[in-house]
Amino acid sequence: MAQLTVVVPAYNEAAVLEDFHARLAAVLDGLGLDCAVLYVDDGSGDATWAVIGSLLARDARAGALRLSRNFGKEAALTAGLDHVREGAAVVIDADLQDPPELIPELVAQWRAGYDVVYATRSARAGEGVFKRLTAAAFYRAMEKLSDTAVPRDTGDFRLLSRRALDALAQLRERQRFMKGLFAWIGYRQTAVRYLREPRQAGRSKWNYWRLTQLAIEGITSFSTAPLRLATWVGLGSSLLAFLYGLWVLGKALLYGDPVRGYPTLMLVILFLGGVQLLALGVIGEYLGRNYAESKRRPLYFVEEARLPR
Ligand code: UDP
Ligand code: MG
Repeated sequence: MAQLTVVVPAYNEAAVLEDFHARLAAVLDGLGLDCAVLYVDDGSGDATWAVIGSLLARDARAGALRLSRNFGKEAALTAGLDHVREGAAVVIDADLQDPPELIPELVAQWRAGYDVVYATRSARAGEGVFKRLTAAAFYRAMEKLSDTAVPRDTGDFRLLSRRALDALAQLRERQRFMKGLFAWIGYRQTAVRYLREPRQAGRSKWNYWRLTQLAIEGITSFSTAPLRLATWVGLGSSLLAFLYGLWVLGKALLYGDPVRGYPTLMLVILFLGGVQLLALGVIGEYLGRNYAESKRRPLYFVEEARLPR
């Protein structure tokens, strides 16, 4: 059976799929491995499913899943990877931005013993300055805020060994930031550099709104730093409120109460405000723990065990 399955999420990619499959098939022919291709039609509204159907009729290696609606790339990828029951998998975009010709290099690293071989782009051809800047800012924020380092300038294009796939299959959290999950599972990971082409045809499905959502998802699913921030802001401002309260109280005791009621009113407001912020911080801390627990991630994966007999 298949030693290597190429998983291709496709959403409204009818325009490129023929070209894509031709290039992919040529690469797979030269690999000398038992290969399969699994297309995941992510609820496309165009002829994608029909094109996939004609590819399947011509190429016995190809198979396909059709999701019931558009669930987004992360879900489409998960669906595809869940159906790779044996052997390793390569994840690749359908739009030819990830060159299928790089697959032999990924395979070579896999043969050398790596579990996750990701393709890192050395240039972002066809992407504007703004997209580059925002992407750089995002990777920096991820590095600072979370314990999982997501490799820079790396898309989903990568090869996953069997045990990496098995590990990934155990991460069933609902908010799936795949790049983070790929990194989180650990094992031996390495990069292969390549030049990312501009999209061949069709349009990118990512607009800035969706990219922002993805970035927020990445940061919130791999870090509770924003919640922690609330705790610190709460602590800081209640400390300031307390100091200012002391000052108001001291002034009232020394100089009396010229504006009647002001000191007491101020003290009550400051005290309650401070207590509320602190309480919010405490709730935030517990919420953060609850959140980490609810992801139900395995605690670890063992790479190698040499136990006493
Ligand atoms: N994709 C998908 N579902 C979506 C959006 C995108 O399966 O809701 C697929 C798309 O068909 C392509 C890959 O994910 O194969 C990457 O999408 P796109 O090229 O739009 O992203 P970009 O290259 O701009 O990051
Ligand atoms: Mg693309």
